[in-house]
Amino acid sequence: MIRLLSTDFDGTLVDHYASPPVAPALFELLAELRRCGVLWALNTGRDLAFAQDGLRQFEFPLEPDYILTNEREIFHRNAQGQWQDYGDWNRQCLLAHDLLFEQEACFLEEMLRFIREETGAEPIYENSKPVGLVAQSDAEMDRVIEYLHTSRSPESLFHYQRNTIYLRFCHAHYSKGAALGELCRLTEVSIHETFTAGDHHNDISMLDGTFARWAAAPGNAIEEVKGAVQKAGGYVAQARCSDGVVEALRYFLETERLAPPGFRF
Ligand SMILES: [Mg+2]
Repeated sequence: MIRLLSTDFDGTLVDHYASPPVAPALFELLAELRRCGVLWALNTGRDLAFAQDGLRQFEFPLEPDYILTNEREIFHRNAQGQWQDYGDWNRQCLLAHDLLFEQEACFLEEMLRFIREETGAEPIYENSKPVGLVAQSDAEMDRVIEYLHTSRSPESLFHYQRNTIYLRFCHAHYSKGAALGELCRLTEVSIHETFTAGDHHNDISMLDGTFARWAAAPGNAIEEVKGAVQKAGGYVAQARCSDGVVEALRYFLETERLAPPGFRF
């Protein structure tokens, strides 16, 4: 039985090139699943404010129970209705990243020099600290990734989250998948009760079967994602974005008989 959904946002629930960008059938299905007690976590590369902006912009009629942000942090609403850290995870995550960036300062400086001098990519800074970059193309991003893999020390925990032409630097132990694993622990939902859907590189950690048994990719997902989902025994939809997520959810709920009690098809 499915009790928790962990979905990416851009390119998975929202099709920025379609009208409407989100299929009404997705809203109906999410509402019906919620009525049956299923929890929904938005698991996104957006930060908390930008995720909320997206939900408003695309007129989601219901809010997620959890928002997992920046591919690593976990938020839920407190008794007063405000979004706040869920448990101690975000604090641990921040400490791990501060320490990592301190330990890898020389490597980071070298990489930024490579980016400035040998690519057209632009580093992204937050509070004067380099946190990632934006490349001009997928091919340029491939070069940056290759540099990173060949230049960091083999035991380094310096890692990254890749999403289209955007790259976020991160600690190897923190990802959408790791955050989902912690959410399952906090909510006492098992891997076997968890559905997940995503379309790009930064979603693979939650789609490879490690943190969720029921994985799905919409038809517009990149090949690497489709491959990871297939390998995990998941479902690759024909339809794009939200239509694809509805297709995948219906497959699991109906064909695999994973619907919660009282669910109306
Ligand atoms: Mg996406």
